[in-house]
Amino acid sequence: MPNYLKKFIVEPGTNIRLKHFDPDYHGKHESHQDALPEIQKYVEKMARLQYLMYAERKHSLLIVLQGLDAAGKDGVVRHVLTGMNPAGCVAVGFKQPTPEELAHDFLWRVHPHGPAKGSVAIFNRSHYEDVFVVRVHELVPENVWSKRYDEINDFETLITKQNNTTILKFFLHISKQEQLTRFAKRLDDPERQWKISDSDYKERDYWGNYTEAFEDVLNKTSTERAPWFIIPSNHKWFRDLAISQIIVRQMEDMNMQFPKPTVNLAEIRRQYHQAADQEKSDRRKKR
Ligand code: AMP
Ligand code: MG
Repeated sequence: MPNYLKKFIVEPGTNIRLKHFDPDYHGKHESHQDALPEIQKYVEKMARLQYLMYAERKHSLLIVLQGLDAAGKDGVVRHVLTGMNPAGCVAVGFKQPTPEELAHDFLWRVHPHGPAKGSVAIFNRSHYEDVFVVRVHELVPENVWSKRYDEINDFETLITKQNNTTILKFFLHISKQEQLTRFAKRLDDPERQWKISDSDYKERDYWGNYTEAFEDVLNKTSTERAPWFIIPSNHKWFRDLAISQIIVRQMEDMNMQFPKPTVNLAEIRRQYHQAADQEKSDRRKKR
């Protein structure tokens, strides 16, 4: 099995161009059917690892999903992260900021959603919107957004160091043609029509600007503690396979252990047997 963590990671300090990455890549599998057993295997492993993380309460995991419209961010939350127990896992979507959020620094609304020790947080969009859409549409001047790469790196360093958080950032890479195909499906499918937005086609005119903005982010903010992965996402099943494998590998690397019991097990066992004997004799008396 190829190591997708190694294959798709953006090595810190490199200078990538997205045109060199094939969004159609799908490894050895040819179809969803073909890949499904492997995806399921990883989803199950992830569930067990998350249970362990929850029990141990030493580590936390932040998963960041970014990509253009229809790149599949919601799909990853639905298909890959289904195995996680909601008690230790929260998914947060970042929409257009409210006036109150806009009256603060751009990380203000993000920080409270960072994962607590023992838990997993999934960001569907994130603080990176503040160097994507905000940059492309010049919602703040360049001298403001251009400083944000360093500010983001500092912020991510803070939470990784202070809270033992591992950050995995996935850029879902699709082609312009694939986006159009998915938009067409939305038009024809009553269960997807709710996803259509007025700006979908207008945003396509900015494809080149978004690409440039993504490249800058991938090159400036992929760090050892918080790496980016460029996930070929034209095939939804391959996207799910790659992401689930990377998450499992990363969680396995944490070397987590179930905590030792805080009680004296021999004593508790003695109490159990006493209670069981009592039950037995009570039942006998009732007969
Ligand atoms: P969706 O993910 O399809 O529900 O759309 C959310 C929308 O909110 C997208 O159009 C994002 O570009 C937009 N959005 C998210 N964060 C920001 C931000 N910080 N500034 C401006 N727009 C944002
Ligand atoms: Mg949308």
